[in-house]
Amino acid sequence: MTDVEVRRIRNDFPILDQQVNGNTLVYLDSGATSQKPVSVMEAEQEFYEQRNSAVHRGAHTLAVAATDVFEDARSTVAAFVGAADNELVWTANATAGLNLIAYSFGNASTGDVTPEARQFAVGPGDEVLVTEMEHHANLVPWQELCRRTGATLKFIPIMDDGLLDMEAAAALFTSRTKVFSFTHVSNVTGVINPVVELARMAHDVGALVVLDACQSAPHLGLNVKALDVDFAVFSGHKMLAPTGIGAVYGRAELLDAMPPFLTGGSMITTVTMEHAAYLPSPQRFEAGTQPISQAAAFAAAVNYLSETGMDRIHAWEAALGQRMVAGLEAIPGIRVLGPAAGTARAGLAAFEVDGVHAHDVGQFLDAAGVAVRVGHHCAQPLHRRLGLSASTRASAYLYNTTAEVDAFLAAVAGVRPYFG
Ligand code: PLP
Repeated sequence: MTDVEVRRIRNDFPILDQQVNGNTLVYLDSGATSQKPVSVMEAEQEFYEQRNSAVHRGAHTLAVAATDVFEDARSTVAAFVGAADNELVWTANATAGLNLIAYSFGNASTGDVTPEARQFAVGPGDEVLVTEMEHHANLVPWQELCRRTGATLKFIPIMDDGLLDMEAAAALFTSRTKVFSFTHVSNVTGVINPVVELARMAHDVGALVVLDACQSAPHLGLNVKALDVDFAVFSGHKMLAPTGIGAVYGRAELLDAMPPFLTGGSMITTVTMEHAAYLPSPQRFEAGTQPISQAAAFAAAVNYLSETGMDRIHAWEAALGQRMVAGLEAIPGIRVLGPAAGTARAGLAAFEVDGVHAHDVGQFLDAAGVAVRVGHHCAQPLHRRLGLSASTRASAYLYNTTAEVDAFLAAVAGVRPYFG
């Protein structure tokens, strides 16, 4: 991609064309949530104008039309990550997806479950492995699973440069490891983990592999089969789609054997007053009325990404990320978290400004029209490991230009002189 092409892309994102505090908006907070192109907003509006209905069981024409939209959207999003239709479960977001998996394993660990469900059971003596760089969404549900079942939570530490300590990792995978859940891309350091190698290490000891693809699915071509993970989760709102929808990929034979998490309508075959039998995946995990218009818009979002080209998006963002890191490193008193310029990373950079709190940095940048995120970015253990409690994060997407990165860097250069 080039700046000229990005300028064309920006025409599809009307929100970007506005003034903030007297300056042109520079939106560098896509790691938190992305902006939406017109085609995504139109898909949702078109659904409500032409096809709105509950899905699946309706006998009327609109219900059939809505069901077609909903299931076509599933096929589109599933294909986008290399999954089959029945391997993609809609959720509210990635957090809900990770809870779905962890609670399902917890349900398999307690009480009277089917023999197929037993394979997911964990208990005392078993280990759940995560990493020190996880977002809380991929840590707290596993803490809860361990608390409920008596299993032990372990983590692969990171090194000073934010990369995973692969030597330590090798020693942590043992026959006791039942689940390994880790992020593809760190939302703080931009580190891209070696998924294939880690998944192989986990599978070698018989563990199930869960990938938090929240920061990768939006930004690089993701193929769950090629990566050989058993589960992957992502959020629509970080990849041009609306809020309120996300997805879990799971290998079909696993999803069909897992106990449900949420139960109720739409996920059963027969119900008596004493008992219920469950549908296979994906309906088994989709209790209650689903985010239907959001699914239609999610499909429009991944179509937009596919038409632009995930490889090109990734290359463009990687270049912006390198420009950010190199530029930040050149400003006195700035410490960039994670690998130095020149080492592969996603298109984001979190940093500390010597002597200035991240919240003050954020306010100063906002006054210049630059939107960034401040705080611990839901990764307190990672921040603690790197010796700080908060940082400022700039995160780019396909609609950001090099001029915007330069405007951000110029604003950051003004922070320390201003705060003295
Ligand atoms: N995992 C990672 C790496 C994230 O960056 C985020 C969001 O910031 C999440 C999980 C949680 O996503 P959501 O809040 O959409 O559920």
